[in-house]
Amino acid sequence: LIEAPESLPSRMQRLRSRLSGSGSLGRAIVQILSRGELKATDWEEIEDTLLIADLGLDATDELMSRMKERVAIAGASDSNTIRTFLAEELLALVDENLDRSLHLDKQGENGELPATILMVGVNGTGKTTTVGKLARVLVAEGKSVLLGAADTFRAAAAEQLSTWGERVGVDVIKSDREGADPAAVAFDAVKQGAMRAVDVVLVDTAGRLQTKSTLMEELGKVKRVMEKQAPVSEVLLVLDATTGQNGLKQAQVFAEVAGVTGIVLTKLDGSAKGGIVVSVQKTLGVPVKFVGLGEGADDLAPFDPRSFVDAIVN
Ligand code: GDP
Repeated sequence: LIEAPESLPSRMQRLRSRLSGSGSLGRAIVQILSRGELKATDWEEIEDTLLIADLGLDATDELMSRMKERVAIAGASDSNTIRTFLAEELLALVDENLDRSLHLDKQGENGELPATILMVGVNGTGKTTTVGKLARVLVAEGKSVLLGAADTFRAAAAEQLSTWGERVGVDVIKSDREGADPAAVAFDAVKQGAMRAVDVVLVDTAGRLQTKSTLMEELGKVKRVMEKQAPVSEVLLVLDATTGQNGLKQAQVFAEVAGVTGIVLTKLDGSAKGGIVVSVQKTLGVPVKFVGLGEGADDLAPFDPRSFVDAIVN
């Protein structure tokens, strides 16, 4: 009797529990590669590990063949050498020389218009929290900031944003009416931003994904209306690192609709799925600019490929 190959979901399940036990993706791989004489099953194990960490098929193949080559050429099995190889190859995959800065020059002929940031993403990914944290980062850089609560669908969303506004000391433009036109709120926020001569207007939006076309209509309109005053400087897509391949599909929809210029990957704390950084950059061709590392006001960090890789392999 030939045993049927284990199904992918079951393999994933088994490995997921093992991964969470071993702690770090890098450590798991270094452990396997340090076994010395490597068998096909060892490489399969590495492949599974990378796929579970959401690195994606292409990047997994690429990393596997680079590591095979380097391990073979060096004839190495000591864990330090292997860790160095892995760090270098991961860095090459993650870094890609992408520009991760925010472009927030003031606009208009005489700099009389604010830079604008449009935040998009599915509800629950951490969008509103990220708006608050990002406002905090900008204020710490000495910028004046105004928030726009264009998620008018849920009354609680504007309230939540107001709480963040108070916490970080910035004003929030919102509508008194639940269900108001989000584009009108966004327009008003930019207009108020210009009148108050603030540096940056940050607009929070709703992320109802019930159908692609309503989302497209609503977000498209918000962006168009903002651009009646000044081009949108940055469109940041907020993506939950724990949602894996589903998150990637969402990302594609938003990129299509809103022309995303950067990604904020939230909930990277407590996720063994850091590979999503690589797959989302490859899928969208857009850099991860910030990562969310917790629920607190200071838990947003600029994404730094080198420290990210260090955290994975050590
Ligand atoms: P929104 O619906 O996209 O606006 O999402 P919220 O901002 O309301 O966030 C949803 C939940 O995720 C809240 O409980 C947040 O505290 C939590 N959250 C947001 N960002 C992070 C993060 O980086 N790490 C963790 N652990 N939780 C986060």
